[in-house]
Amino acid sequence: VEQTLALIKPDCIHNSEEIEDIILRSGFAIIKKRRVHLTPEQASDFYAEHYGKLFFPSLVAYMSSGPIIAMALSRDRAISYWRELIGPTNTYKARNTHPDSLRAIYGTDDQRNALHGSDSFSSSQREIRFFFPDSIVE
Ligand code: ATP
Repeated sequence: VEQTLALIKPDCIHNSEEIEDIILRSGFAIIKKRRVHLTPEQASDFYAEHYGKLFFPSLVAYMSSGPIIAMALSRDRAISYWRELIGPTNTYKARNTHPDSLRAIYGTDDQRNALHGSDSFSSSQREIRFFFPDSIVE
């Protein structure tokens, strides 16, 4: 089995129980879970790879605008399977091309896209440690 880091972002927090049900019904185990309100500094650190991009300041403002839920999810092929389930980054694109995806259903716009999923094994390791510093990620 593999682990990935999932985030329920501020625009989707009111749907978190529904999302957690979907996660469990999709064969994931929720290994760790934490509700957290990131400071702008923490949000900048999490999204450091996007530093310097035009959308970076508003991404940081969005991600620190309210509480989020961080979860370490486990199942086989967790990283790619969770990203398939959430769908394309852009909510409008998700609605056009992947209407059953979670971002199509729960996303707000091109930035506020409800959910996050690690995009590789190395990001899953970094991101799980970011939210759960004492965890051992295999
Ligand atoms: P991936 O790039 O691997 O698809 P992702 O879906 O999380 O991962 P990123 O490109 O890493 O998307 O961007 C991180 C977050 O920044 C997005 O989830 C979205 O909230 C926001 N974002 C990305 N691109 C834009 C954009 N062009 N305009 C506004 N916000 C954006």
